[in-house]
Amino acid sequence: MKRVFNFSPGPSALPLPVLERAAAEMCDANGSGQSIMEMSHRSKDFKPVIEKTEALLRELMGIPANYRVLFLQGGASLQFSMVPMNLAGSADAAAGKKAAYIETGIWAEKAAKEAAKFASVEVRASSKDRSYAYIPDAPAPQDGDAYYHITLNNTIVGTRWEHIPDTGTAKGGTVPLVSDISSCALSEPLDVSRFGLVYAGAQKNLGPAGVTVVVIREDLIGHAPPETPAMLRYDVHAEEGSLYNTPPCYGIYMIGLVLEWLKGLGGVPAIAERNREKAGLFYRYLDGSKLFYSPVEKPFRSLMNIPFIARENDPQKRAELESRFVKEAAAAGLINLAGHRLVGGMRASIYNAMPIEGVQALIQFMEKFEKS
Ligand SMILES: *Cc1c(COP(=O)(O)O)cnc(C)c1O
Repeated sequence: MKRVFNFSPGPSALPLPVLERAAAEMCDANGSGQSIMEMSHRSKDFKPVIEKTEALLRELMGIPANYRVLFLQGGASLQFSMVPMNLAGSADAAAGKKAAYIETGIWAEKAAKEAAKFASVEVRASSKDRSYAYIPDAPAPQDGDAYYHITLNNTIVGTRWEHIPDTGTAKGGTVPLVSDISSCALSEPLDVSRFGLVYAGAQKNLGPAGVTVVVIREDLIGHAPPETPAMLRYDVHAEEGSLYNTPPCYGIYMIGLVLEWLKGLGGVPAIAERNREKAGLFYRYLDGSKLFYSPVEKPFRSLMNIPFIARENDPQKRAELESRFVKEAAAAGLINLAGHRLVGGMRASIYNAMPIEGVQALIQFMEKFEKS
């Protein structure tokens, strides 16, 4: 068997022990004589699977009892619509309630643009002026805001909020903080009680593509306007325990295996330490390199997604050099290092499943490439 170091931003590498266990259980899961993929989602065989996944997620994320966990479909992108539909639907818009967005990257931009179809959106701060290379100061929300949306880790541009903004208003109210945590879920401890809702597509840090995890405070459920389609309502999914229709059963099972693996390593504090070590090694190398550099301002650098650029002023030569780098790295077993198609350059995504050996191998390769 050949395994590469996969630096893909998503779908991304899964821990090898998780894949091996899934393979071993593929044809006969828990002595049921069936694969998870063949089971009814309402059967006694599947019930413990979804229950275990939720219980582990609650334990590892420290989710308070007054929050519900939903396993949905449609990716993080569908949450760009569901959040405004459910939290700032037509009645709220008519009442003059605004949905506040902080624009910190391409996903944040998309979230705000989509929300504007359903809610009265205001972008309250943006870091677009310097190519999203930093996190702007977050202004306090305004009384009557329906919610305040941030993207905690910016997958494409490689920035992260190093503090959670306070969403108290001048008059003493609190506006629900909503965050896209697709590319940083379970990478570091997160105080869920500071948020009204967090959501994540699973394919970066939690499991395979096809599942979206939503964690929502109970009082935010049940405010969708009546015309909202059932599949897009948090209340429907919450009432039915994510079994309103057929959920992505296999993906939910895989998330459960990933969470068991993570718990075995010592949970979120342990993986956070490992993540800081991995990112620290890589940034230290980049900051000392004569050929490559990080375009992100230091206080805002992501632990999960690290873009880097070759120092070469001629754009044509730079593109050639970078494409040669990506090709030669792939031949050396270090794959998916091209930057996002919208920003170019290179990017190493080093989620929880990337072992430190992968980062060390990448650095060694870059040192060699730089010399040659
Ligand atoms: C990948 C990503 C998305 C898009 O996720 P899909 O599941 O493909 O819809 C949205 N936001 C962030 C921060 C991401 O990293």
